[in-house]
Amino acid sequence: MARKLNAIGVRTPAELATLLPRTYRDWRVPKPLAQIVREALERVQDRDAPDSFEEIAVGEIASVHEFRRRLSVVNAQLRDGGGTIALTWFGRRGLRLEVGERLFVHGRVALRRKAGRASVEMNVLHHRVLRPDEVYVGSIVPVYPATKELSSRVIATVIERNLDALSALVHDPIPAELPARHGLLGRNAAWRDVHRPATIESAAAGRRRLIYDEFFALALAAAVKRAQRTGDGGAMPLPAPATLLDDFERSLPFAFTAAQRRVILEIFADMAQRVPMNRLLQGDVGSGKTLVAAAAIVLAARDGVQSALMAPTEILAAQHAAKLAPLLLAHGITVDAVFGSMGAAQRRQAQDRIASGEAWLAVGTHALLTESVTFKNLGLVVIDEQHRFGVAQRARLRAKSRAPHTLSMTATPIPRSLAQTKYAEFDLSIIDELPPGRTPIETYVLRASRKFEAYEFVRKNVALGRQAYVVAPAIDESENAGDGELMLTSVVRELELLQTEYFPDLRVALLHGRMPPREKDEIMGRFTRGEIDVLLATTVVEVGVDVPNAAVMIVLDAHRYGLAQLHQLRGRVGRGVERSYCVLIAPDDRADVERLEVLASTTDGFAIAEADLRLRGFGEFAGTAQAGVAGNLLGDIQADFSFYLLAKADADALVQSDPQLAQPEHRALRSLLDEETNVRAILVSS
Ligand code: ADP
Ligand code: MG
Repeated sequence: MARKLNAIGVRTPAELATLLPRTYRDWRVPKPLAQIVREALERVQDRDAPDSFEEIAVGEIASVHEFRRRLSVVNAQLRDGGGTIALTWFGRRGLRLEVGERLFVHGRVALRRKAGRASVEMNVLHHRVLRPDEVYVGSIVPVYPATKELSSRVIATVIERNLDALSALVHDPIPAELPARHGLLGRNAAWRDVHRPATIESAAAGRRRLIYDEFFALALAAAVKRAQRTGDGGAMPLPAPATLLDDFERSLPFAFTAAQRRVILEIFADMAQRVPMNRLLQGDVGSGKTLVAAAAIVLAARDGVQSALMAPTEILAAQHAAKLAPLLLAHGITVDAVFGSMGAAQRRQAQDRIASGEAWLAVGTHALLTESVTFKNLGLVVIDEQHRFGVAQRARLRAKSRAPHTLSMTATPIPRSLAQTKYAEFDLSIIDELPPGRTPIETYVLRASRKFEAYEFVRKNVALGRQAYVVAPAIDESENAGDGELMLTSVVRELELLQTEYFPDLRVALLHGRMPPREKDEIMGRFTRGEIDVLLATTVVEVGVDVPNAAVMIVLDAHRYGLAQLHQLRGRVGRGVERSYCVLIAPDDRADVERLEVLASTTDGFAIAEADLRLRGFGEFAGTAQAGVAGNLLGDIQADFSFYLLAKADADALVQSDPQLAQPEHRALRSLLDEETNVRAILVSS
């Protein structure tokens, strides 16, 4: 038994005590046979009803036959006071049922047609022979994760027989008054109810307490991390003179939006502290986050420390360097860039300037993380498109100085729910307003057979002096192991098509990730200067790229992308004052493209992220770069957000009163901080 239990991840009695049922079967009230038959027949009329359903019944065997084919089949007639039903067992040799025996059965009921006649049959999944005078007493039966060797029923019996001893092993690290305050059960009682619920409601109440534990553990870990950061202190306080923001604004071609001004002041307030800033700036694509970062960089330089700005792609980093350099130079801030693709000499020169402090701002990609890049006095780290970086990468950049202030930026809206867990260590700033004069992007979904219409539309816009992006998922045919039955559109093949068929007279160029960086920069530069009409690209243009004259975005094979990613792509247009358009093209024979309509119906990045989350589920959303425990939660933070906030308030208050969890009654809580044990302790169910 121990060996079999090991196979489902249960190694100790305590783990058995906290083995979570997958679901429950309500075997309390058997249904009269006549009613089962009636309901099965009624379902025939209802086209939407599934053709079979599970039921339980109690009756007496009226007849029984066993057939031996390849599989042994046993047929029996069961009858009760009001009706009869045909029972079938498949592959159950040697059942030895006797006429006159009384039986409890659980099975799948369906209508069978034999020789033109319809009859109602139950395919028996479980049964038990009742003693002659036994009155069937039903219960709610927990269903445990089972294997071929170890059935749920055996697990249930082991737990049921030892429930007292097992519950004694359940310890509760959370101070009892916290769950009690919300009317929740003690952990011990909760597990008893989970294993042996008297009613469905008590099973739910038990579960509720376990969900509280899970939410509490997540919130506790975040609160402790935040407290540690605050306790460390050690950052250089960078106070802002009262006039700094206005002076900076005067040097710009436009005024800040109210939202930009607000978040800059939040950032300035953080930077004035000895506690290192750890702020996440969220703002939809085109909301002007770069300028906010620039203000922080100006403040850092004014107070005598260097800044680093890291972006996920060379295209983006180069664009930042090009845009920021003239803006910052007006304030005496020198900018140097470090890319992976730089020549050795050029790179050494940049690194020397950064190391000596001649460069006030270092812009770059991951290349900034290498050991050869050192700073004289790094005080501010800005991470653009932070969701593109792993936790370790962000930490490595910060490690280049003792305790720099950190500003992370993202256009990916953080769904409320995750904001409170994965992002709980951040303070949040949100830009909820676009710079003036933008018109919302119009979005359409088209089938591939109408692609030519999209291209005609591109031509019309080019004639008006605008530019367009065409995005395709693959580079060339070699990537086409891809999508099951469908071929992915590759940029190489589409380029041929555009140059020969659709736009032989237009300036079309290609951009993809396998091109040498120098060539990428050159193409991007020409597109920015308006020397290219149509840029055919892979998703390398997805993040950050900013060419205001580009007004049309065509996405081929749009079904290949998540909604949030499409929203990012779409964000490449609509950056100027001209009306902009996005056309999503999906194959004719794909049914699963309705989700694309979400994009046609809203430009609210937040709503899109939530729809994405809903459609794809938590697990995938968490991604691999930031994989956390979110994918494994028993509770659904999103659906149960207010309950989560309750647990979080408890955890925050507790950590506030005892940041080290040093008080004797809090020591046990430390076990919850280790994610590994935490997940195991709460969810030994997988
Ligand atoms: P994102 O938040 O997506 O990084 P950017 O920082 O690239 O956005 O800004 C998008 C565009 O909006 C840029 O061309 C930028 O110059 C412009 N911009 C930023 N702030 C303002 C403003 N307050 N008024 C007008 N244009 C602005
Ligand atoms: Mg940006």
